[in-house]
Amino acid sequence: MEIRICHLFPEALNLYGDRGNVLCMKQRLSWRGIDCKIDSLHVGEHKDLSKYDLFFMGGGQDFEQEVLLQDLSGHNGQEIKAAVADGKTFLCICGGYQILGRHYETSAGIRCEFLGALDLYTIGGAKRLIGNYAYRLEAEETILSAKGKKNNIDSRLIVVGFENHSGRTYLGPDVKPLGYVLAGNGNNGKDRTEGVRYKNVFGTYSHGPVLPKNPFFCDRILRSALERKYGSFSFPPLEDAFENAAHHQVLSQVLKRSFFHLP
Ligand code: GLN
Repeated sequence: MEIRICHLFPEALNLYGDRGNVLCMKQRLSWRGIDCKIDSLHVGEHKDLSKYDLFFMGGGQDFEQEVLLQDLSGHNGQEIKAAVADGKTFLCICGGYQILGRHYETSAGIRCEFLGALDLYTIGGAKRLIGNYAYRLEAEETILSAKGKKNNIDSRLIVVGFENHSGRTYLGPDVKPLGYVLAGNGNNGKDRTEGVRYKNVFGTYSHGPVLPKNPFFCDRILRSALERKYGSFSFPPLEDAFENAAHHQVLSQVLKRSFFHLP
């Protein structure tokens, strides 16, 4: 078995060590005896993207996102959009996540027409949304209603990450949030949503890199690529004591700023 990963625009989109997510995915596949080949698609380069199973796009400053506009408006943009529609797996972080949407109006008033692969758009704000944060995967309406008293929360589906973005992202009706914010800002600091889910696309504002200290999240992304390619497959659990200790350490600190605590 083999998963082929295409790392999109690594020279332009790689803030806060986001490329560490690609290394984490490769290692967690290798520990299970599954091969993983990683190629990069550089700005201005053309590749047949149909042969890849999983795409990664990291974060980037407004300037780097503007540099990519020409590539995204041509052949590469169309191929990426087709891969999304075809149900290929994507992990896109912050600027890379914004790029999948319709447009991004930067805080300097520059309007970037992006791929339009996902029903979302982003508007830059004067104050950057920065800090460690945590969110629970899947819709959890109870998170929205939690106020006042401390609520127990099951930590198994909570992602901890680091966010630093001026963009406020708003989701349309054709997509779902990746999760709901327990502490921090998420998509826009207002509606408690974080990231996006659409077909096999996982978009998030989580830098870090996010995957090493959220092993369940990494495995969920890998399983989506394996399921699409092979249907059924063997994917035994890994011994994640070290990873889970790091996760718990950060999460317990972040939750101090929330209505939640770990049981
Ligand atoms: N330039 C985008 C913003 O400021 C994305 C930033 C990032 O990738 N960290 O919102």
